[in-house]
Amino acid sequence: MTENLAVLGSTGSIGTQTLSVCEKLGIRVSALTANSNIDLLEKQVRQFKPALAVMGSEALAKELKLRLADTDTRVSYGMAGLCEAAAIPQADTVLTAVVGMVGLKPTLAAIEEKKNIALANKETLVAGGSLVMKNARENGVKIYPVDSEHSAVFQCLQGCPEKKALKRLILTASGGPFFGRSAESLENVTVEEALNHPNWSMGAKITIDSATMMNKGLEIIEARWLFDVPVAKIDVVVHRESVVHSMIEYCDNSVIAQLGVPDMKIPIQYALTYPERYPCDVGTLDLAELGTLTFAKPDPETFVCLKACKRAMAKGGTATAIVNGANEEAVRLFLDRKISFLKIGELVNASLDNVKSKQIITAEDVFEADKAAREYILANY
Ligand code: NDP
Ligand code: MG
Repeated sequence: MTENLAVLGSTGSIGTQTLSVCEKLGIRVSALTANSNIDLLEKQVRQFKPALAVMGSEALAKELKLRLADTDTRVSYGMAGLCEAAAIPQADTVLTAVVGMVGLKPTLAAIEEKKNIALANKETLVAGGSLVMKNARENGVKIYPVDSEHSAVFQCLQGCPEKKALKRLILTASGGPFFGRSAESLENVTVEEALNHPNWSMGAKITIDSATMMNKGLEIIEARWLFDVPVAKIDVVVHRESVVHSMIEYCDNSVIAQLGVPDMKIPIQYALTYPERYPCDVGTLDLAELGTLTFAKPDPETFVCLKACKRAMAKGGTATAIVNGANEEAVRLFLDRKISFLKIGELVNASLDNVKSKQIITAEDVFEADKAAREYILANY
């Protein structure tokens, strides 16, 4: 069980829910980080009294330092600050809830300092999964999933005595706001429509990823690394209600599922208290009230990002960093209203065909691939 936590991305959707779990369970917090939300970070520092607070830029760090002059909290900024927070001596665990591949360096820094990782930041594993898992093994640290599907698989696996008994993972997908629609009907959807997720309230980037189903593609790759299961053994089923959070199937065709109300506090808390369980501040699941749970096949012809992720995984090396970087850039352009919704999938697939991939030997290979993918998108949107 975590006793002292560093939270990277504490002002976001996962970050704020993590702090409410910490408050409830009395977990101490030694570092907090934000990109630009200085008001919320100041408030969090006053409540949790961490040793270190980190802002995205030097200018904001200067302002935060002035505001926190009456406290004992040190202030830092930028990537160096994030890595400092990740490696802070007091913490036994680092929860990574920044958005995007910006989380890779600090995650590697935390592993180097032998911190366990509670991982929400899936882009890190998508871009540099082989490296992160290898370093984790070598340093003897655990990576606990926060993503609800992966937490579900992790929970189901608690009853799995040996790997060879496992036949496949079945990840559930809500399908986002547009499931069931044709590509033609999605031509003119707006940012507001894409941000209107039916079941979950999350940050903007992952909400768009859910609408394109890139999120599920990223999660297949995430599952491949977290559980060391080949992509061929990871299936996706659309489940609109987001009550069954994922399943595993054994070699005897017995299927184990994890269910619960769609509330991220459950997987966040389990990642912090594993192997113990504690009461959690969420609703109870009332299946009779729900009445029906539905399941359907995904539609990779309309939601082409799913295909891009599988193709990238088959290519291997830096190809997954390329689709991830391309997607981060394309989602930003969509949110800035510079490209259409369907263009995201088109660009992500094109990046895979046009940006050269190679084997990952060092983190530098991942950063280069990410940069090349972003440049490709900016030159071709
Ligand atoms: P949010 O956008 O809500 O929060 C992101 C956090 O990261 C904020 O604290 C933000 O600071 C900070 N941040 C953003 N950009 C940078 C940057 N360039 N450098 C440093 N810090 C930065 O995201 P979510 O909480 O929704 O998602 C976080 C991660 O968790 C993502 O990888 C997502 O895929 C994953 N995840 C999220 C789920 C959810 O329910 N939200 C579910 C499963 C996974 P500021 O507030 O100042 O902008
Ligand atoms: Mg998820």
